[in-house]
Amino acid sequence: MTKEYETIINTITLPYRWALGPAWTRFFDGLKEEKIYGTRCRKCKKIFVPARSFCPDCFEDLDEWSDVSQEGTLRSWTLVKKSHYGQVRRPPYALGLIHLDGTDCDFIHFIGGIDLSDLKKVREKIKAGTRVKAVWNKEKNANIHDISYFKPLK
Ligand SMILES: [Zn+2]
Repeated sequence: MTKEYETIINTITLPYRWALGPAWTRFFDGLKEEKIYGTRCRKCKKIFVPARSFCPDCFEDLDEWSDVSQEGTLRSWTLVKKSHYGQVRRPPYALGLIHLDGTDCDFIHFIGGIDLSDLKKVREKIKAGTRVKAVWNKEKNANIHDISYFKPLK
């Protein structure tokens, strides 16, 4: 007969500071002004959002700024219905992989402005290829939540 061992539930918190550096600081400051900034690589000409300090493809420093479109195309999405530790929003919520017009990478953010209570209804409103537009929060804090969500355009 094998012995059953008891378990206990415990919580670990890990407060930390993350240095944003000049690129992300300017990106977040832009959100406060309802602008989405990307940085453009002088070598490969790609525009990255959120703004980055170096090109992930050719490792060039990025110092050319671009106020990019607030509209884009939904590449993929998921509906979150389960609660778990660390969520910043209460389910249900949808996350989308968004390709902002004129940029060269995808951007993850919330999809909203639609009924998210039922997967079938969500599937009727969004799919890969759906056009979306940023919806701004009235209160800005120079963080990613200054954009409340991206709303499908139809
Ligand atoms: Zn590059």
